[in-house]
Parts: sequence; C-alpha cells; structure tokens
Amino acid sequence: MSKSHHPKFIFVVGGVLSGVGKGVTTASLGAIFKAKGMRVTALKIDPYVNVDAGTMNPIEHGEVFVTDDRDETDQDMGNYERFLDVDLDSNSYMTTGRVYLTVIENERAMKYKGKCVQVVPDVPKEVIRRIATAAKNHRAEITIIEVGGTVGEYENILFLEAARMMKLANPADVAFVLVSYLPIPSHLGEMKTKPTQHAARALNSVGINSDVIIARGEYALDKPRLEKLAVFCGVKPEHCISAPDVPSIYQIPLTLEEQNLGNKLLKILNLKTRPSNLKPWQDFLKRIQSSTREVKIAVVGKYFGTGDYTLADSYHSVIESIKHAAWFNDRKPILDWIDSEEFERDENSIKKLSRYDGVIVPGGFGTRGIEGIIRAIQYAREHKIPFLGLCYGMQLATIEFARNVLGKKDANTVEVNPQTTDPIIFINPVQAKNVRTNKYGGTMRLGAYDCALRQGTKTQKAYEMDLISERHRHRYEFNNAYRAEMDAAGLQVVGINPETDLVEIVELSDHPFFVGTQFHPEFKSRPMRPHPLFREFIKAAKK
Ligand code: GLN
Repeated sequence: MSKSHHPKFIFVVGGVLSGVGKGVTTASLGAIFKAKGMRVTALKIDPYVNVDAGTMNPIEHGEVFVTDDRDETDQDMGNYERFLDVDLDSNSYMTTGRVYLTVIENERAMKYKGKCVQVVPDVPKEVIRRIATAAKNHRAEITIIEVGGTVGEYENILFLEAARMMKLANPADVAFVLVSYLPIPSHLGEMKTKPTQHAARALNSVGINSDVIIARGEYALDKPRLEKLAVFCGVKPEHCISAPDVPSIYQIPLTLEEQNLGNKLLKILNLKTRPSNLKPWQDFLKRIQSSTREVKIAVVGKYFGTGDYTLADSYHSVIESIKHAAWFNDRKPILDWIDSEEFERDENSIKKLSRYDGVIVPGGFGTRGIEGIIRAIQYAREHKIPFLGLCYGMQLATIEFARNVLGKKDANTVEVNPQTTDPIIFINPVQAKNVRTNKYGGTMRLGAYDCALRQGTKTQKAYEMDLISERHRHRYEFNNAYRAEMDAAGLQVVGINPETDLVEIVELSDHPFFVGTQFHPEFKSRPMRPHPLFREFIKAAKK
C-alpha cells in the first residue's frame, strides 16, 4: 500500500422493526463507496447467543451463508459479498456467543492476567478488536458494521456500547446510520414518523446520536415529514434520506446515491468528497428492466410449507443466482416453489414440471419430501428438462440414477436409510462420530475446496477453467464404490477434489443440461458476474 490511511467506521443500526432492509442498505452503502474507488468492507453482528448460524433452523433464521474460510454465517453476508463484490471471512461476522466464547477462553488462559473480567468494558473491547481486525485484514478505508436487531432491544446493548466507545475514542472516525421504518397505517393513509422518533430516542439513551436516518417506507419521504424527523431525531434535514420500496434491491445503491448519501457520509467522517462511478449499476438495472421475456424455473424441495417469505429467505443465494443468470441471458426469471411432497401424494402431479423451462433442486437435510424430489429429478432427466442439483440435489440425482438406470432399487443416502443395501451417498467415520456424539456445531464439510474438472465436459466449458474452488456445507458424500459404474452408464463424474478424491460434480452426457454439484455454487454468484453453472443452466432453459 502506497499511503497509509486512517480507517473510518460506519455503524448501521435498525429502528422500529427488523426486516426492513438493513442488510441491503449496508450492502448498498458499501457499493456506493466502492463506486467512489474506495476500499471498503462490511461486518455483520448478530446479537443471538448461537456461536454461528449453522445450527439454526433456516425457516426461522433464513439462509446459512458459508464463507471460503468455513464459517457458517448470516444471509446478510451474502448481500455484502454480492453488492461489494468481495470475499468475506469469519472476521466479518460475530455473535454474542462468539464474543463471549473468546472472552471466556482468554480468561481461562490467563490472558487477562488475573484481573476481574467484566461485561463492560471487556466484552465491548473484544467486539472492537474484531471490528479492527476485519478493517485491517481488508485494508479498508471504510468499514461498515451492521448491528442486527433493532435499537432498544436488550440483546444488542453491548454492541452499541462498543460503537459508543469507538466514537468516544475517535469522534471523527465513526458515523451512525439509523435505518428505520415509517409505517402508513391503512386507516390513516398517512406516513407516521413517531416510531422512528422513539427509535432515535432509544439510541440516545445508550449514548449515541445518529448522523443519518434512512427512512424506509412504502413511499418516499415528503418534506413535512422529513423536517419533523430532522427536528425530533436531532439529524440534519439533508441527512434524512428517503428509501421507498423499489422493484429490485439492486436499485437501492442508485436511490441512495441520487440523494448524494456517499459524499454526505464522507463529510461526516471528515474525508474528501469524491465522484461515484455508478455506470455499471445503471447498466445492470437497465438490463434487469429490459429483460421481459420469461424463463420459468421450478425449485423443487421441502421446507416450502410455511409461506412464501420464510421460504424465500432460506434460499436467498439460490434465488439471487437464478436472477443474475436470467438477466445475463436477457430473461425475466419466474420462480415457482414446488413442495416435493405433492409428488408423493399424487403421482400424476409430476406432469406439471413439463410447464417449466428448468428444474432446480437446492440443498436440504433429512428425510421429508425426498421421494418426491427423486421423482422430480427422474422427470427432468427423462424429459430432458434442464436440471441443476445443488448439494442434496446432486446427491439425490445420483440416487435417482442408481435406482432407475443402474437398477439398484434400494439405492439411497444413509442420511435417509442407514440400512440401505446400496449406500450411494454415505458418511465417513469422522462425520459419523460427530453425529453420534452430538457435535453438530461447525463440523460439516464447510467452506472452500478445490475441484479439478474433466476436459471437454459441459461443466468444464462453462467454467473455462481446469481447477476451481467452491464452497461446501454438507456431512454426507458420494460413495466412490459406485463411481465407475455410474460414470460408464452416463452420469459422468466431471469434478473431483484432488486431495481427497471425493466426487464434486456429476453431469449427464446425453441431456441438454443436467448437472449436480456437491458444493453450493450459489454462494459465489455476483449480480454482474453470474455463476457459470447457473448461467449455462438458464441458457439451456431458454431453448
Ligand atoms: N443433507 C446433505 C448432507 O448433509 C446435503 C446437505 C446440503 O444440501 N447442504 O450431506
């Protein structure tokens, strides 16, 4: 690095209610500074006690996002990676459990040299150390820290205390952005600022005043309400930013930059203002808007019985990957979620898949809905519908092939049937012991592993590379005892981990597009750089 810089920090906190787009706002801020040619990184703080997101139910918590360095984190980390176009690591993610675990381990190792270790300041100090480490590792000029939950909650007090301590130490280096919600109660038909005023007060009560308010709402913030917010929340009027609902999250960097938010924050942080090059985002948005011809994709799996919202959250990266690939191919993605149990209840219902241009089976766990998924894969294989299987989707594709092509009627994964006579998908002794001894937290095969591709295959042509690296999150593996037979019969093994010889990718030779991956390609798709396998899948689906 030529010139040393003085790192600056922006905390993004939430007001009124969660789920109003704090993660996307954080990610969009990152995109804006990136468009100004600055080095920027982002961190997520989740206030719960869990050490990582891996053991949480994805229906309640949303997707578990996996980093290269084997961390199981929150789905917002995926938004940061996609908007900032960076690879993050475990330094960019913390939970209350993780912070306390370090403090306690350090105390047991005498690192506090026998002094009394206190909740304040020792816990916030560990939070600050982690933030500083992430900033340093990324050599970031600006580090954006999203504090999960909303202000006024008991859970995030220690994190806000860390933020307050940082501001106290270097007032010009720390800024606060409050992302708050302005409801429009239907019986009033008018946007209300009061809940946000309370959120600003709650923030004041822990010694913090926000510098910027991002007013989320169904509609734009009008002048009277903007002025009210400014006075009652103690924020300059020009620092009250309107963030109405928009059709695509990828529009948000542009919405915020239209109000010059980037330079406003730079001024707050005592930095020189700079122009932003948002042309790539503008072009990307035009592409989204001009993609009007549809491509219809069926996503088949379980987990789909609890309403659209939670469901979409548990497969956030898969959905985004499909969108990136569709837009790249000038298509408007139409996604339907199909609960595989439907195919178990009514055999005839499988025919509905003929209405789709492509079928995706995403990752999953357990036994529910598995037979229905296998039926869907068989239908896609036999009717030559483009198919992409992700992790469990790949495992089930090999089982379907073993049953219906190789004639091994009992073929299964030992996850579903430990007694199967043909364990196509099995478990190694180390993983079996983890399960036996309840060691579930962070013990799956996680994170980045290399994969060598077989020359001349569709997969290798898609990647245009011979050696790739992709992220994993699974416990079970393809059983190499079946490899030669399966490969010879047409479901070719086209990707292998060079160190362990584990099967990573299978591809059907005689099919427009039928690919299964043991890893999760969806973690590496970027808005303007779709993942090669999703890209080729949609390309085949277009035909
Ligand atoms: N349940 C399978 C396994 O643990 C697949 C996991 C997944 O799809 N992420 O290996």
